[in-house]
Amino acid sequence: MPAPMLVAVDEDAGGLGDVERELRDRYERHYRIVCTRSSHDARARLEQLAAEGEEVALVLAGPQLDGRSGSELLDEVRHLHPHARRALLIAWGDWGDRATGEAIFDAIAHGRIDHYVIRPSAAPDEVFHQTISGLLLEWAEALRALPYTIHVVGESWSGRAFELREVLGRCAIPHNFCLADSNHGRALVAEAGDGLKLPLVVFPDGTVLADPSDADIASAAGSPVNLERMEFDLVIVGAGPAGLSAAVYGASEGFSTLVVDEGGLGGQATYSSLIRNYLGFPRGVSGRRLAQRAHEQAWFFGAHFVFMQRVTGLQHERDGLSVTFSEGGRVRTRAALLATGATYRRLGIPALEALNGAGVYYGGPTSEAPTVAGQDVYVLGGANSAGQAALYLAQYARRVTLVVRARSLHAGMSHYLVRQVEATPKLDVRLGTEIVGGGGDGWLEHLVLRDRADGSEETVDADGLFLMIGARPNTDWLPPEVERDDRGFVLTGTDLGDDRDGALPRSPFLLETSMPRVFAAGDARHGSVKRVASAVGEGSVAIQLLHRLFAADGLHPSGRPHEAAAAIPR
Ligand SMILES: Cc1cc2nc3c(=O)[nH]c(=O)nc-3n(C[C@H](O)[C@H](O)[C@H](O)COP(=O)(O)OP(=O)(O)OC[C@H]3O[C@@H](n4cnc5c(N)ncnc54)[C@H](O)[C@@H]3O)c2cc1C
Repeated sequence: MPAPMLVAVDEDAGGLGDVERELRDRYERHYRIVCTRSSHDARARLEQLAAEGEEVALVLAGPQLDGRSGSELLDEVRHLHPHARRALLIAWGDWGDRATGEAIFDAIAHGRIDHYVIRPSAAPDEVFHQTISGLLLEWAEALRALPYTIHVVGESWSGRAFELREVLGRCAIPHNFCLADSNHGRALVAEAGDGLKLPLVVFPDGTVLADPSDADIASAAGSPVNLERMEFDLVIVGAGPAGLSAAVYGASEGFSTLVVDEGGLGGQATYSSLIRNYLGFPRGVSGRRLAQRAHEQAWFFGAHFVFMQRVTGLQHERDGLSVTFSEGGRVRTRAALLATGATYRRLGIPALEALNGAGVYYGGPTSEAPTVAGQDVYVLGGANSAGQAALYLAQYARRVTLVVRARSLHAGMSHYLVRQVEATPKLDVRLGTEIVGGGGDGWLEHLVLRDRADGSEETVDADGLFLMIGARPNTDWLPPEVERDDRGFVLTGTDLGDDRDGALPRSPFLLETSMPRVFAAGDARHGSVKRVASAVGEGSVAIQLLHRLFAADGLHPSGRPHEAAAAIPR
């Protein structure tokens, strides 16, 4: 395979020379580099590469080129090379100029560029390289070309192969899917050895699992499972942003900490292709990346993790709590944090439920987006998550239609996203509309839309449907002692009211539930703000409250898990 291309085009000869020097110095071994001052040359070269099926990883363009703007050229690149990252080259300090700042925001809002890059200064300019390598990482993610990628080989897109892709996706593990009768699939099956039951999961170290269970994947991915006789200061149920934040703060502040998740890392955040409003990430960050980093950080501080084990019970026991797992084990802890988040509501149309994974998807499109290139897809939902999904899909699909029950986008979406949605040419919005039917032969082919005002129905061709229609809290499994509101969200602190039966000899702490020593944080909590930053904030606050709880009970963080005096009786 020829090496992927890095293309830079800038009228400014000096600036282009600096860019070329830096690109060649660092990337020439693995990429082919083309630098030109002419946008016509660049355009012709990019067209030729597209016609020859060659991969372009990155295109950098100066602000003005042969009388047109660099963002216009970058907008054209999107259609020629949908996976390529596209950034505008600007001079240092340009972002301080209001007009330039507005133009950049506008170009990003319209999807014409992915971001901006400040032209390099004297070599070595590590800030420039950090930006370039970040863009190349995004390109590799979009192309599913990350190192240590797990391959799933299945007979069809749906069924168990789809479930496995979902499990790996929820664990924020880079993975790739191919059909067993594709060239790549045949090669992987031959390498694994004939006669193995599909689907196959092939790990980067060569381990092959034939038709594995979720638990098989967890142990092959290195998750510790034998926790009998262990005792922790804190067990966190859920490894979404709230749980991961509590794990980082808890473990770093001396609490022996165990995090258990029925899926894997990152919770709902892994469905978010680009979180742009999280503090400290001006270019945005994918939920998956954020979760991977938080996991590494918590692990570094000594937190323990168990994936693909559902917590099914929680009870008081002697001077602590015991937490029961779906696989039958139990672990003892002094305190627990419920960070179980929420799950999507289902559409409830049998013909569409049957196509789950075969054109119909619950949640964000991060893993499926590259497969919808050139197709017509629909997104159902009116909240921020639906807006983000539609924008992300618009980078790949021929046309995206956002179907919204409300009569205005502003009813459920942040203003900045409404602006982006309205400004994106390939994105249509159908307000006051619902999906009432649909189907297809093995893959989604059509949908039935109903106008909520006059009841008229229309059947439309559709290759993909992404459902983002709200969520319910993952709290059904909790014991009755944990009080919840009428929608199932966990009540904490002052929301518990005063007329309680005295389970606690003191007032509950701010995030403490009606079950003493059990805290709740993030989306599962009544009254929580459904955002990554607030879930992270609540996770850290929970640890401060844990300090106060330990102080009130005369306890000290134990630093590392210790052996329980006796195994917990089953
Ligand atoms: C597509 C999408 C885009 C979004 N975009 C943004 C954005 O741009 N900005 C923003 O701020 N927010 C965004 N959000 C919202 C944000 O992701 C959530 O608010 C946040 O993830 C909530 O974190 P959490 O830790 O409370 O719960 P979750 O992220 O829901 O995590 C809960 C975890 O608990 C686990 N769990 C549940 N029950 C059990 C059990 N019984 N046993 C073991 N484990 C269990 C689940 O498997 C899950 O991993 C988006 C959400 C979605 C879906």
